[in-house]
Amino acid sequence: MEPLDRSTVWPYDEHGEPRAFYYQRYAHPTGAAAERALGALEGGDALLYGSGTAAVTACIFAFCRAGTTVALAEGAYFGTGVTLAQFAPFGLNVVEFDQTGPPPEADVVWLEAPANPVLSLPDWEAVRAHPGLVVCDATLSTPVYLRALDEGADVALHSATKYLTGHHDALLGATVTRDEEHTRRLSDARTRIGLSAAPDAAQSLLRGLGSLELRLERQTESARELAGRLAAHPAVSLVRYPGFGGVISFDVEGDPLPVETATTLVKNQTSLGGIGTTMESRWRWEGDRIPRGLLRLSVGLEDVDALWADLAQALGRSAHLLKI
Ligand code: PLP
Repeated sequence: MEPLDRSTVWPYDEHGEPRAFYYQRYAHPTGAAAERALGALEGGDALLYGSGTAAVTACIFAFCRAGTTVALAEGAYFGTGVTLAQFAPFGLNVVEFDQTGPPPEADVVWLEAPANPVLSLPDWEAVRAHPGLVVCDATLSTPVYLRALDEGADVALHSATKYLTGHHDALLGATVTRDEEHTRRLSDARTRIGLSAAPDAAQSLLRGLGSLELRLERQTESARELAGRLAAHPAVSLVRYPGFGGVISFDVEGDPLPVETATTLVKNQTSLGGIGTTMESRWRWEGDRIPRGLLRLSVGLEDVDALWADLAQALGRSAHLLKI
């Protein structure tokens, strides 16, 4: 791992010219090292931002103008729609569409693979036939399960706060692009609007990438097992799981609060992609755009039987309340 350098400034060269690093908002050594590592995994040029939301904002500044229409995948991360809506007063139009089919007419197609929390996947063939610029939020897949640029996206986007750093201790975003002009526009947006990532978070990414594949394999193995056990439980009416990755969403009848507050090993908290298992009702944030009883479970590295014992006793309480 690169030694952590928290400097905000570095000296000019002997001719008084800026070197590769001169002011942290433009670039810093730890960030550059982390970008090289992520870029190699995705097969493109990576840029880091202060959060996943900052990466979304950079894409809007880089690729949208007044009058631009963005076709956004339905059921994608709630906050992305909220961020895009901040730009309505500046003339940005947003239409939602079902990403399992062809995108509508739009300048920018915004996918999420899989969508958080409905876990739908894009129809890549239809996406490739679309003339618009394609952004794919690949936070839940990571490059272990999806190389979005190979599938036809122009921009792969990550909330690196989740799996890429992987320990719930860093807020970070990333884009990866192959077209030089796209990279330049994003880099300009990052610097000018002030969306840069801090060196500490970049170092968390370097650490996280070292164990990414192992973590994802283990989380997938456990999530597959838990998805099967959940589907067979009488208190669960529906399980969504794309077959890879650590995120499952499932529905219980009625109020999900008694279930989410009854676990101990599974922490009742927001976010996903960490080494510890987390679960929350998304209705508290998203309201009726998702089912009332939907619980999002992000499976960590704990023993799968211990996780199931915790979930089963919580579901048992809910089944008892429902008199199943
Ligand atoms: N994209 C997805 C799929 C997310 O789940 C999130 C956060 O939950 C974001 C983007 C935003 O990332 P951040 O919280 O790092 O700003």
